[in-house]
Amino acid sequence: RAKSNGRNSFQLYSADMNRTSMQRLSLESRLHTALSNNELFLQYQPKLELGSNRIVGMEALLRWNDREQGVIPPDQFIPVAEELGLIGKIGAWALEEACRQCKEWHDAGYADLHMSVNVSPQQFTRRDLADDVEQALGNSGLPPAKLDLEITESCAIQNIDDVLEPLNRLRQQGITVSMDDFGTGYSSLSMLSQLPLDQLKVDRSFISGIPERSQDQELVSTMVLMAHNLGLNVVAEGIETDKQHQYLQQIGCDQGQGFLFNRPLPPEDISKLLIH
Ligand code: C2E
Ligand code: MG
Ligand code: MG
Ligand code: MG
Repeated sequence: RAKSNGRNSFQLYSADMNRTSMQRLSLESRLHTALSNNELFLQYQPKLELGSNRIVGMEALLRWNDREQGVIPPDQFIPVAEELGLIGKIGAWALEEACRQCKEWHDAGYADLHMSVNVSPQQFTRRDLADDVEQALGNSGLPPAKLDLEITESCAIQNIDDVLEPLNRLRQQGITVSMDDFGTGYSSLSMLSQLPLDQLKVDRSFISGIPERSQDQELVSTMVLMAHNLGLNVVAEGIETDKQHQYLQQIGCDQGQGFLFNRPLPPEDISKLLIH
């Protein structure tokens, strides 16, 4: 009995595996043509200065309008694009499009607006990030000081020199660099001393604990203090409640993003938001 059960469950398992690997295979093959089919697009989430509640910048967030599954969020396809070695080209496109859009907003009268773009490790290793950035700035006419690159620890974990050289070169031109999802990696603190940074983004997982978890509250206020002592600007990610907003204001956190203010929006909606 045990034996036949085992066999049956093996067959079930294997049929399941086949279905998911087939789905995955088909997603992979569609992802190969997503960029050339114009299926990728960007939404923008405002960044606010917490003292004044003024919008100071936007973060560009990638989406894929897949013909089979509809709009797919980045957490579901960026890791696949990384595995397939497609993220270099996709990332270069995102830089280009975000800079173009930001320049459009500048020309419409919002010349103070900053644009943040997320960057994958492969954009350092498999491509020349500094070249891609310089091309996006050159083509759009966006001033370098208005562009911010959001990197994660996984960018630096490879070979630190692959990352330091392009980041230093870009920062000399006025581009700023942010450490995204701060506090979640296994060597967050050592990254702070090794990387040339301008800004630290406190991960949403700490913000969501405010005010219920006093540990999170203490950690966030310590991160703000530490960042300021290092001369870095601090952004809180994922602000969802008034209480969180008030606490962050009270401890002197510089900027914030979150559903309390805005969800990521299509550029047309951002344009309307800027007018009002
Ligand atoms: P991230 O850079 O940390 O972006 C913040 C994510 O949190 C976004 O998810 C945003 O929609 C979400 N978020 C913002 N405010 C709130 C809030 O108040 N509550 C909650 N629950 N969520 C909030 P999204 O757009 O799904 O992006 C997920 C991740 O995908 C990003 O995390 C980033 O790591 C990556 N990503 C997005 N666009 C790109 C890109 O162009 N290139 C690369 N390499 N990665 C990207
Ligand atoms: Mg980000
Ligand atoms: Mg983040
Ligand atoms: Mg994240």
